[in-house]
Amino acid sequence: MKKIAVFPGSFDPFTNGHYDIVSRGLSIFDEIIVAIGHNSDKKRYFDIQATLPKIKSLFFDKPQVSVQLYNELTSEFARKNEAKYLLRGLRNTTDFEYENAIAQVNKQLNPNLETVFLITTPQFATISSSIVRELHKFGADVSSYVPNTI
Ligand code: ADP
Repeated sequence: MKKIAVFPGSFDPFTNGHYDIVSRGLSIFDEIIVAIGHNSDKKRYFDIQATLPKIKSLFFDKPQVSVQLYNELTSEFARKNEAKYLLRGLRNTTDFEYENAIAQVNKQLNPNLETVFLITTPQFATISSSIVRELHKFGADVSSYVPNTI
């Protein structure tokens, strides 16, 4: 049976830190679905219609990785896609507090769903989508924080 993981997030934008988590996840899972949580009522900084094809193109040579938008409970999205794992990244204790709470709730919603955490690679530990947005807003060069295509 294939090990399918969902990597859920806002990815606004998709950073080198996210790319690293997916790349490393491929040594654990047969398939990874990058699931972009998208709620049309919630405003994103980077337009979703432009973002989706860019993230897809990052993995054009990796058929094990697919990219989808979703607007429902992550546990429900995972169930529909026959994924038994959620993949998440951890940078620090702040991430841990937040991730711990979400993982516990997801476990209650779907006891068959395991959340697997990968600790960030040190060189990406300080990268966050919110910092990239802030830099971009004020015209700073963000090329060292996001993949070229993004
Ligand atoms: P969310 O809005 O759900 O927090 P994000 O797009 O910010 O979504 O992040 C998705 C996942 O990627 C989260 O588990 C987050 O902790 C992880 N992540 C974000 N940046 C990094 C990074 N630089 N290194 C490792 N993991 C990261």
